[in-house]
Amino acid sequence: MLSGWLANTRDICTAIPGRNVTEKAKKLEKCPDPSPILVGPLRVEFTDPVSLDLVRQENPRLRNGGRYKPDNCLALQKVALIIPFRHREEHLKYWLYYLHPILQRQQLDYGVYVINQYGEDTFNRAKLLNVGYTEALKEYDYDCFVFSDVDLIPMDDRNTYKCFSQPRHLSVSMDKFGFRLPYLQYFGGVSSLSKQQYLKINGFPNNYWGWGGEDDDIYNRLSFRGMTISRPSGAIGKCKMIRHKRDDKNPENPQRFNRIKHTRETMDKDGINSLKYSVVNVEKDQLFTKITVDIGKPGRR
Ligand code: BGC
Repeated sequence: MLSGWLANTRDICTAIPGRNVTEKAKKLEKCPDPSPILVGPLRVEFTDPVSLDLVRQENPRLRNGGRYKPDNCLALQKVALIIPFRHREEHLKYWLYYLHPILQRQQLDYGVYVINQYGEDTFNRAKLLNVGYTEALKEYDYDCFVFSDVDLIPMDDRNTYKCFSQPRHLSVSMDKFGFRLPYLQYFGGVSSLSKQQYLKINGFPNNYWGWGGEDDDIYNRLSFRGMTISRPSGAIGKCKMIRHKRDDKNPENPQRFNRIKHTRETMDKDGINSLKYSVVNVEKDQLFTKITVDIGKPGRR
């Protein structure tokens, strides 16, 4: 009875002339945690091709730039999803196809940022992630950052793509590794850090060119700053990788073994405080914001 009476009072208040829709929005209650509209395990397959038009049609409530927030409750977190990218259009379609509905069911206030490395020099995943962090914050006051490879799809929507009191590793049970962690310190694939956690480690390294090691460096940074890794259970953290051959311009980085031995000395000098890049192009689509960036090449920062 009482709650019904309160609800009515609220309706009357918002109906007073001069009180506008924005004021009504402020009165939204926090979304419940966990979201009540999750469905649990999902079927994820990469056999039938998907088109961007299909994904646009299936997600009519997205706003330009791949933005969404629930309209009947106040999202618990503002999450920027950062995807390091180059020449993986087919994978991106699957990522968008699967992830948009999941993120909406998770009732997040979110935006999708595809950070596309300009040119054909060696790929640099961690530097692109730093760029994504910086560019997303120029647009909105995000408090959480989910860093996701373009080829990884969660198989259960209870694996919420948000931040936790400790940095979160989300892709804990990948099909590629037989649905288990390849090693306990593994922090690759999909992870989330709050703004505060990210700044505490000076962001990510900018000098890992080519495949491997940058996620181990990030793990080192987190543990040197006294943080631990939070993870979902193996069942909820299951995910599928889209099979592909290694990109030509992303060869194994032979320097990685040496670099990860020196994180403690390098992390204060190399990170978000030393990041240099230039934006080449920004494309806004209903499904994503794609930012093409020149991040330089090995040997230069
Ligand atoms: C690399 C990581 C990679 C992991 C799993 C390690 O040897 O340094 O970057 O994520 O293997 O493939």
